[in-house]
Amino acid sequence: MSEASLQQVDPELARLIAAEETRQAQKIRLIASENYASRAVLEATGSVLANKYSEGYPGRRYYEGQQYIDAVEQLAIDRAQALFGAEAVNVQPYSGTPANLAVYLAFCNAGDTILGMGLPHGGHLSHGWSVSITGRYFNAVHYGVRREDGLVDLDQVRELARQHRPRLLWAGFSSYSRVLDWGAFAAIAREVDAIFVADMAHVSGLVAGGAYPSPVPHADVVTTTTHKTLRGPRGGMILCRAAHRKAINAAVFPGVQGGPHNHTTAALAVALKEAATPAFGQYAQQVVANARALAEALRAKDYSIISGGTDNHLLVVDVTHNRPLSGKGAARALDAAGLVCSANTIPFDPRKPFDPSGIRLGTPAVTSRGMREPEMRQIADWIDRVLKDPTNEELQRVVAAEIAALCAGFPAPGLPER
Ligand SMILES: *Cc1c(COP(=O)(O)O)cnc(C)c1O
Repeated sequence: MSEASLQQVDPELARLIAAEETRQAQKIRLIASENYASRAVLEATGSVLANKYSEGYPGRRYYEGQQYIDAVEQLAIDRAQALFGAEAVNVQPYSGTPANLAVYLAFCNAGDTILGMGLPHGGHLSHGWSVSITGRYFNAVHYGVRREDGLVDLDQVRELARQHRPRLLWAGFSSYSRVLDWGAFAAIAREVDAIFVADMAHVSGLVAGGAYPSPVPHADVVTTTTHKTLRGPRGGMILCRAAHRKAINAAVFPGVQGGPHNHTTAALAVALKEAATPAFGQYAQQVVANARALAEALRAKDYSIISGGTDNHLLVVDVTHNRPLSGKGAARALDAAGLVCSANTIPFDPRKPFDPSGIRLGTPAVTSRGMREPEMRQIADWIDRVLKDPTNEELQRVVAAEIAALCAGFPAPGLPER
């Protein structure tokens, strides 16, 4: 007797998954936080490890039957320590936000002061933004970028740190296109006796591949997602100094989580093995080269890039500059044409967050398909054609067909052959 397949059990759901596969295959995905995980990573994610409970840590569990789970988790820990040169690693956080919540729990009491980059300036919700639990339960103070050049204002960071004496100093971003001076943040944190937490969620793959400076030598604690540039399963991870290992482990479990998602831990181990290869290093370098090429090509068409360009995998474009556009309108028109991106606030944005002035573009996913500089210039051409006439649905259909044709020549990792 063979068991019924997903297609047989739930054809309605199977159709939705197949449609999403086609969407991911035929569109150019420019959402900076997204990627294509490999088939090996997806296989581990879909494995029977999802059936097992294992609250605790390797060698110290609350349930029996951990003969293989302990080895899986230890493999992920060892690979992460080796790849990033970290003294201690926790691979259990369910995602980036829970990883950050564990850091708050490890070091803060409710009401403590924390200092992080403001959301509209490129920071993340979980760095104390008002609508997040981290803004509600802590006294969050925010720094930002300078109006003149769009770069993080380290003088402001130092001034605010001296004035407010935060318990945690956060550095890290979701929409900042430059290199952060991790060492300078560490020095400021030392001066005011703060714990320095680097959130490398967006750039951990670039760090692994040597294409972006590592915060690990500088930070007390480093948090990351595992599904962005790192190309792993959806999840989170915390790297820290040995002195913080106990506090971090206790904060993750039983502090903010229950049992770890072992299928995700296994898939993370696979991704960490992939990320340690020379090929991944080349991938990381190409992600940055592609982002630079895309930014250059857009600048040549008179688009205004926040901070003037990029040193990482993303760029934020002010689409209102010399154009009758908004971020949401631009993102919608581009999606209809097969170019998927996100609307994004720009620093000092006069518009509202749901329909801001910018769009954020990223190159991790297109680079995973093997696209290079010539394709980035082609993508800039398509973006410009669509945004010149953003309500022209016929044009959007034509561009979408051209894009599907290009994509057919660049098969994406992890997707079924078609
Ligand atoms: C994406 C991101 C997170 C949150 O990750 P989730 O997995 O979506 O919870 C945290 N911090 C930064 C800087 C991010 O970019």
